[in-house]
Amino acid sequence: MSWLVQPRLVNDPFSDPGVYLDFRYGRRAILFDLGDVSALSSRELLRVSHVFVSHTHVDHIAGFDRLFRLCLHRPSPLVMIGPPGFADQVEHRIRSFTWNLLDENSVDFCLRALDYDGLRLVKGIEFHAREAFARRDVEPPEFPGGVAWAEADFTIECVALDHGIPSLAFALKEVMQVNVWRGVLAEMGLPPGSWLNEAKGAVRRGMPDEHRIVVSDNQTIRLGDLKHRALRVAPGQVVAYVTDAAPHVRNRDRILKLIDRADQLFIEAVFLERDRHLAEASCHLTAWEAGALAREAGVRHLTPFHHSARYLAEPDALPQEAFESFTSGRTRSLTA
Ligand SMILES: [Zn+2]
Ligand SMILES: [Zn+2]
Repeated sequence: MSWLVQPRLVNDPFSDPGVYLDFRYGRRAILFDLGDVSALSSRELLRVSHVFVSHTHVDHIAGFDRLFRLCLHRPSPLVMIGPPGFADQVEHRIRSFTWNLLDENSVDFCLRALDYDGLRLVKGIEFHAREAFARRDVEPPEFPGGVAWAEADFTIECVALDHGIPSLAFALKEVMQVNVWRGVLAEMGLPPGSWLNEAKGAVRRGMPDEHRIVVSDNQTIRLGDLKHRALRVAPGQVVAYVTDAAPHVRNRDRILKLIDRADQLFIEAVFLERDRHLAEASCHLTAWEAGALAREAGVRHLTPFHHSARYLAEPDALPQEAFESFTSGRTRSLTA
């Protein structure tokens, strides 16, 4: 089974947070957070179509200038989604540069900034290069509740966590994977063709077995026959990203729901459990909690990050604590 995306941390866990999700096909990428991105090449950044920003503390957004500058000469749009107030903040940043050299002959790069309130997209602003990035208020797209973005192959689910301010956490959820056994197809006397996409879509939408798929002008097939013989159906990949969240039960419940049975979880582990008072004071998770959340949610692979610089002298302490908690059967209840 091939994954839709290959995710990786942008930086080492003591540096700015962020995950780069590289699509296996299509020369495309998504970013969760946009802190220091100097570790990414220009070519990698130019593949980015969507950026999901948890909140605008500087370690999560300082890479905006580099990405924006690189994109000025590309025709494909860039979509950025953040918490309430985000689109206005993006406008302020854009207004702080001078754009008199742009005109109707420029490449028409478009940046779209959207606010997500914890349940849905509530505000949109577009900036077009040919309009010298003048503000254009637009209706944000409508997705089901709890979804910040949706396409044919995946959705990005999103919850707002409490970090003193709202901090968004994200999960890329690939829709069900439907693969074709080519050999069986030939045995069944069915030619490959675009009708297969229609069949895959019908399986993903949960159409009944009796539903008939049109293969050609003079051939149809029962979806059930096709599904049970020539198609292989498997759950899609889930990649979750959780950062900057106060260690309390309200956040815990939201996180558990979001990361449920994720294949890969990137989660902040800022302080050791022995320094819990610091975690509570700065609204961050401890390494122990990060591991416990991952274990309780049935996560397969855990990657802790966003380590406090106070542990630079003992760099293994935070991942060790997170993995110990992840693999142990013990629980430690969070403060209410
Ligand atoms: Zn923060
Ligand atoms: Zn942070």
